Amino acid sequence: MTPITLKDQFGRSIEYLRISITDRCNFRCVYCMPLEGLDWMPKAEILSYEEITEVVRQLAPLGLRRLRITGGEPTIRPDLVTLVRMLKNVPGIEDIALSTNGVKLPELSAPLRDAGLDRVNISADSLRADRIAAIARRNFPFDPIASAQAAEDAGLDPIKLNVVVMRGINDDEIEDFARLTLDHPWHVRFIELMPVGDMANLTFEHVVPSDEVLKRASVHGELTPAAGPARGNGPAAYHRYAGAPGTIGVITPMTHTYCGSCNRVRLTADGRLRTCLYGDHEVNLRDPLRAGAPLEPLFRRALAEKPLEHNLLQLKVGGLRALSQVGG
Ligand code: SAM
Ligand code: SF4
Repeated sequence: MTPITLKDQFGRSIEYLRISITDRCNFRCVYCMPLEGLDWMPKAEILSYEEITEVVRQLAPLGLRRLRITGGEPTIRPDLVTLVRMLKNVPGIEDIALSTNGVKLPELSAPLRDAGLDRVNISADSLRADRIAAIARRNFPFDPIASAQAAEDAGLDPIKLNVVVMRGINDDEIEDFARLTLDHPWHVRFIELMPVGDMANLTFEHVVPSDEVLKRASVHGELTPAAGPARGNGPAAYHRYAGAPGTIGVITPMTHTYCGSCNRVRLTADGRLRTCLYGDHEVNLRDPLRAGAPLEPLFRRALAEKPLEHNLLQLKVGGLRALSQVGG
């Protein structure tokens, strides 16, 4: 039977769900979370793995194909491998990705791959140990290159490294990150800093426009537009040095919007379906789910209200304190 595709009010079909499985994190990245943490969601309000899987099971017949597990930091929730296996077994789900700070990838990459994880995005804002600790405000022994290598060795593909560029803080590493693509089949993506929530003294002055990033990365050779990774091609625009195995992507929430092709919705850890990263468009799925009600009418209502584009550029950020609350 052909699935009835879920479309929003502007005709964009929705086949991609980002699932936040925890709002907690072992880092306190300066652009994401206050040092003292947030008001964590009580455990009873957080969807169990069975409940998350049930939401996916009800969305899959409507056209859902791809999932991303995120947070907070998803690898700190116990037994993540079990969730990946449960989701991979839902008929219709073709692709599962993970967003992580990478700390646990050396030990988790192989079991996650075995459970059905397809690919991984690793947040890496510096290649220098002291600076990683200063940005994450935690001092773990952590080497993003070793984590990316562990993921590659386990067969996860593609591997993306996400760098939030901040002027005066890590922008002097643009060239070092870009150089990685000459030696590794990795996709290094530079993300423009977004002004949400309680950010430790970060302002618009710390935003480095992506055009400048590409210009600075050109120090290693001419960059030409390239196709991105075969799978999981999201909002990034990709470029490549001649002959390089990896690519350089830029994600430009501040200087360009890519909402017109947005095909994603988000599930928060406490079971709210958000149709836009910003603003307050969301529907509570948890309570109806726990009451045994069908979710399809709620999906349809949420999509009917999905906005055409976010209002970040007008700086109406809709009470969002941190991306960790909605899964980035
Ligand atoms: N903990 C995981 C991680 O760090 O990849 C997943 C959650 S994190 C909220 C998802 C993504 O959001 C990360 O790539 C992070 O760099 C990005 N992010 C968080 N706050 C941001 C901000 N203010 N501006 C730009 N990107 C941000
Ligand atoms: Fe944690 Fe990811 Fe936010 Fe950093 S960006 S504080 S790793 S959730």
